Amino acid sequence: MIDPKTIWSSANLPTLPSVAIQLLDISKNPETEIKEVIDVIKSDPAIAAKIIKASNSSFFGFTSRVPSLERAVPLLGTTVVSSLALSFSLVDDAMTRGPMAEYYNKYWMQSLVQGVSSELLGEHSNEGLNCEFFLSGLLIDLGRLAMLKTIPEESARVLQQADEESKLLFQLEDEHLGFNHVEIGVRLMESWGLPTALIDSVASHHASKEQIKNQNLTPNYDLIKATATSAAVGGYFCTENKGVYLEHLRDLTAEFYGFDDEKLEQFLDQTRQRTDSAGELFQVNTEDIGSPGDLMIQANQQLAEIAVREAIATTQAVARQEAMQREQEELKSQNDQLQKQALRDPLTGMYNRNFFDEAMNKELCRCARQATPLGVIFTDIDKFKNLNDTYGHQFGDEVLKRVAEVLEGSLRKSDVLARFGGEEFVIMAINPTEKGVTNMGERLRQKIEAEEFFFDGQRVPVTISVGVSLAIPDRKETGLGEKLIAKADEAMYKSKQNGRNQVHVHSLLNDEDRRMMQRVMAARFSRWLVKKGVFDIPTISKALLQFETEHVYIGELARQQHILTEEQVEEILRDQGQSGKRFGAIGIRLGYLTEDQVVHLLALQQEDPAELVMAAIRMELLDQQTSAGYLEEYLAAVPKGAPA
Ligand code: GH3
Ligand code: MG
Ligand code: MG
Repeated sequence: MIDPKTIWSSANLPTLPSVAIQLLDISKNPETEIKEVIDVIKSDPAIAAKIIKASNSSFFGFTSRVPSLERAVPLLGTTVVSSLALSFSLVDDAMTRGPMAEYYNKYWMQSLVQGVSSELLGEHSNEGLNCEFFLSGLLIDLGRLAMLKTIPEESARVLQQADEESKLLFQLEDEHLGFNHVEIGVRLMESWGLPTALIDSVASHHASKEQIKNQNLTPNYDLIKATATSAAVGGYFCTENKGVYLEHLRDLTAEFYGFDDEKLEQFLDQTRQRTDSAGELFQVNTEDIGSPGDLMIQANQQLAEIAVREAIATTQAVARQEAMQREQEELKSQNDQLQKQALRDPLTGMYNRNFFDEAMNKELCRCARQATPLGVIFTDIDKFKNLNDTYGHQFGDEVLKRVAEVLEGSLRKSDVLARFGGEEFVIMAINPTEKGVTNMGERLRQKIEAEEFFFDGQRVPVTISVGVSLAIPDRKETGLGEKLIAKADEAMYKSKQNGRNQVHVHSLLNDEDRRMMQRVMAARFSRWLVKKGVFDIPTISKALLQFETEHVYIGELARQQHILTEEQVEEILRDQGQSGKRFGAIGIRLGYLTEDQVVHLLALQQEDPAELVMAAIRMELLDQQTSAGYLEEYLAAVPKGAPA
């Protein structure tokens, strides 16, 4: 980065010779006499001589010789003469020999191209004078001249980099210096007091087409368009970014001047020719520019390369993206496969015993926290060995698969079914009642009995023997999972002994458990609704299948219902940490809860009344208002306040 002060305080900053300043001053006044202009020019004999020479050059193309300023000034007009004087003074100032000469020559070459093309574009406009167009084109890169003179090393470096890396100069300048030639040029022109039309045009010479179009209401719009377009012409003729500039140029000339490709080529030919004349006039070597045909070939080649590079980049990006996606998908399917293998039985696709054990352990913890029962149903196909022996192993496999499907189809979402061994399936029933889980075992038995299996068009009866067990886990109890399965297996064995195709139950509940469970069950909102005659049992059962109650700690519920304070909940939890007893039992022992309250809290915990109401509304069994009324009435019945 460079402090721009270096530029502004440099003794090498280009200055305007006094003759140019005076000419600019007097040309602002339309009343100015030609005589005055001539007098001013004469005060600088070098410039006077150049103006006479210019009047005779091919650039202006007058047929007869122009011998003197007295003839030249009226012929060219005050403004042209002023512009020429200004241009000459700049060129003169800047042409140096030595190591920087190459950069200066390039600068002037480009400036002339820009001046000429701007002047030619000026012919397409209604306003402004041609010489103004020429001057604005010529001054486009004045900032570059100022930078070459004041910070020569840094400017040379960015100029070279722009050429070598085919980058846009003003962007590189911003990057490396912290400012660009547009800003510097504008500021210098302002300090010279040049007309605002010129300054505005130079200021937006790298603006986008849209930014330029946005200035269509300014009085200098024609000049602004021509200047920006000629900046692109300059870039096309004189930089290594020919392709990019050609494209920009096509865009701008089509938009602003209605050029098609042919018109654009004509215009570029004209610019090239006239640049040579201008080169003679300003003694700038323009040979390096190359012929219009060569330029066009170079530019199009560059554009083709850019297109190819972009296409390759896009293709590569797409390919990379696709490869990544494939890899991820493969990994995922491998993963899924592994997980499935780890969790599922390959023949029936049901969970395996590993999964079942794990699910059971998790569920036991939850049931211990909530003091809810957990049920296990054990099933074994009757005389399966006979089936295999009579109809073949393959038929046996088909029977296994179908039995699994039928069992699965008869369960609730929350129940877990697994293939326990050969022709044994096991089911974990979440939060059942004793009667409920027994009925469930019976339902499964009936379903299998009713399922029709055929071998060679002949029906083959298939039945299962079922054993059921259930318990309410205690917090500190271990090995209950194995015990529940063993008890269910025992019960199943009883069914076998008793003649097969039947259900036996082995409950681990004690009388106290049963009493509490019954009380909690009766206190549930669903039962309350049935008792109140709002729904019959089949309807409420359907509604209950439509939602799951999220687990909320009983302490939390007690606080929500204003039954316990936060301090009381904390005290009970501390006690529980030591004693391992159930929350409700401790609350009762400490005198904070009554059994009625515990029953209601457990009922709320096991069945969220708000969820039930929402399910009923969804099923259009109740409307919003009625159900809100029921909910309120039900909750009001929960006994409040500390026990007496
Ligand atoms: P019970 O009524 O006493 O249960 O008689 P059972 O014949 O069903 O019982 P047993 O345990 O004697 O026989 C179970 C049979 O199940 C033996 C075994 O070959 C068969 N079996 C185990 N796994 C598979 C399997 O994946 N596919 C097939 N087709 N048969 C299996
Ligand atoms: Mg068996
Ligand atoms: Mg069997």
